[in-house]
Amino acid sequence: MWPTKWGLPTYTVRNNNAFWAFIGRVSLFAPRYVEGKQVIYEILNTSYELAGMPLKLSSAVTELPRVGPAKAKYLTKLGITHARDFLYTFPRRYNDFSKITPINELKVGAQMTVQGIVKSAKSNQGWRGRRRLLRVYVEIEDDTGVLNVTWFNLRFLMQQLGTGRKIAVAGTVEQDTRSKQLRMRSPVIEFLDGTGEQTHTGRITPVYPETYGVTSRFLRYQVKQALPLLQRLPEYIPADIRERHELVGIHEAITTMHFPDDTDALEVARRRVRFDELFFLQLAALVRRAQREQRSAHPLPTLNLGQFKKQLDFTLTGAQLEAIDEITKDIGKPVPMNRLLQGDVGSGKSVVALFAARTALAAGHKVLYLAPTEILARQQAKVFAQTLGEDSVALLIGALPSGKKRALKERLRISDPLCVVGTHALLQEDVQVSNLALAIVDEQHRFGVEQRQALQEASNDEMVPHLLSMTATPIPRTLNLTVYGDLDVSVLDELPPGRMPITTSVVPQGERDEAVVHILEELHAGRQGFVIAPLVEESERLEAKSATEAYAEMRKLFPDIAIGLLHGRMSSEEKAGVINNFSAGALQLLVSTSVVEVGVNVPNATVMIIEGAERFGLAQLHQFRGRIGRGEHQSYCYLFPTSDEAVAAKRLQVLAATTDGFVIAEEDLKLRGPGEVYGAAQSGFGDLQVASLLDYPTIKIARQEAVKILENDPQLDEYPILKAKVEQKNLLTHFE
Ligand code: ADP
Ligand code: MG
Repeated sequence: MWPTKWGLPTYTVRNNNAFWAFIGRVSLFAPRYVEGKQVIYEILNTSYELAGMPLKLSSAVTELPRVGPAKAKYLTKLGITHARDFLYTFPRRYNDFSKITPINELKVGAQMTVQGIVKSAKSNQGWRGRRRLLRVYVEIEDDTGVLNVTWFNLRFLMQQLGTGRKIAVAGTVEQDTRSKQLRMRSPVIEFLDGTGEQTHTGRITPVYPETYGVTSRFLRYQVKQALPLLQRLPEYIPADIRERHELVGIHEAITTMHFPDDTDALEVARRRVRFDELFFLQLAALVRRAQREQRSAHPLPTLNLGQFKKQLDFTLTGAQLEAIDEITKDIGKPVPMNRLLQGDVGSGKSVVALFAARTALAAGHKVLYLAPTEILARQQAKVFAQTLGEDSVALLIGALPSGKKRALKERLRISDPLCVVGTHALLQEDVQVSNLALAIVDEQHRFGVEQRQALQEASNDEMVPHLLSMTATPIPRTLNLTVYGDLDVSVLDELPPGRMPITTSVVPQGERDEAVVHILEELHAGRQGFVIAPLVEESERLEAKSATEAYAEMRKLFPDIAIGLLHGRMSSEEKAGVINNFSAGALQLLVSTSVVEVGVNVPNATVMIIEGAERFGLAQLHQFRGRIGRGEHQSYCYLFPTSDEAVAAKRLQVLAATTDGFVIAEEDLKLRGPGEVYGAAQSGFGDLQVASLLDYPTIKIARQEAVKILENDPQLDEYPILKAKVEQKNLLTHFE
């Protein structure tokens, strides 16, 4: 029978048959004293029987033994709310404790497992600082020798460790500096005089993602208890797909993921799980696409490009022309476009968006343009107004006086053509747009899925606007399929002609003067420059302070130069004033926090210092650097690390070595992983535990199979589990 939480059989500590699973972080598992007597849970070291078992896949974790309300709360942090979630929480790594090593063959520094008999167990109560510290000293003996093991603050362990008990310990072998004897400190322990197989030692042991209050040991225990529930989980990948790609069944895969017999079996299991994860990602993307294609959008007749070209004071690049062509075709159709325009900083995305906006206006429709910052919104509104006409472009930002805001929102409800450029203010519910044909999201990686959706939902009729997203965080081409599986992608892989690659150097302390002298020369020659102040984590106030200090320093260093200051604590009017002055050339040098990251377009700026450069991420550094090198002059970027040790930092070296946004994106991906780079929540690949977005071969197979399934069964009627997974994101929600 499954022991219920309230009716646990109790054993006194002398009962040696009780399998004692305790946890490294003992305070959470402190023994309970009931009427002065220690009460412990009986934990069978064998999986429980299904027959008569009240537990289901859908059981809440609180129905499980050893999970109270507090523990349940901790588990939620790992996404574990139901019994089923234990099955799908995979180990992050494994400790190979499968080999038992005789004590006389232990190697210092290695992770090893020892089995033996408790020869002696002592404890002493001491102090560490002001905290009481209980040390438990145990000698373990096998046929070949004796090993000293110490645990700390494991009060109840002491009571368990009677002389003669058979135990296994697994951990790192150390050597005592004074006595030279080998020892282990706080190893994993398992009592072997119970029944059944080993969970924590003597095997390849899973190590789970842990969080406060939830240890791997606890998860191992719960997973093991939950494994029989697999019987209730039907196989959901069709047999023909499994056969084609030699994938093992789901029961075997999950069991092996948690408790592999050997590394070969583990690899086979991982293959299956990898496939599952990427397959669902593809399936969901394709279903989203199919759903989108059932909605309607305003078809926009193609404009004459020649006239537009005449208005520009430059010639469009081949890449820009191609992107314009792709977009024009998409928005000419009565189904909503969903296209990502990908192009490095300065590749000229705005003008492509501009042509799309113009196409919509010419057909009498409205356009919303969402920008991540007010600086960028203002600038873009200005650029658009120059080409589209003052009357056709309006700015909507939080700082707008409420009277003006109201008037503009009124105007959006009536149906004259208008392009509104704005910030998050566009996403407010009272922004109701009639005749909305096109929504543009600039720097789309700055926004979440919901925000992009909200923008499209501003339409006050049945029509869905075409969506054009733009990003300067280029995504390695191989990732397009996964990251943006339901998007079409246009790439600007060509910079406007005449751009000279920026020269970037990482400057040690001793060489800063030279850099400063060079900057002064540039400024005297009529160029402009930026100084980026160090990043101060978690506080806009401190960051403003650090920028203000850098500003004061620069004033001393360059007394005859007009210097401006820009930071996030300034009002948006102040910020706009400074940017305007800088654009107009009235300021020669701009000291700024990261607020300058996007949007400032001053082609005359040719020099940049980034202070505390190693504190920024690679992508962000690349964005900063993109503020220079926008004109005809050679530009220079100086990275000033905080210390000389940081000169060697990988990301600084990468930045110095290349200006190619794609190379940088790939390096960034290697350094930080896709979740960090693209934001896990953004594209649902937070679900990936085992698969990698860089696993192109598997991605390709997964996509082919997903396409094939949907071709035959677009509604997934024959595949209820797949359907549930796609719709509810949780594979197991509708299983008992
Ligand atoms: P981003 O892709 O970073 O958004 P922008 O659209 O802001 O780049 O363009 C950067 C600069 O390059 C702007 O000053 C723009 O006028 C200019 N530009 C865009 N396309 C061309 C081109 N084909 N030839 C020359 N300059 C161009
Ligand atoms: Mg831009």
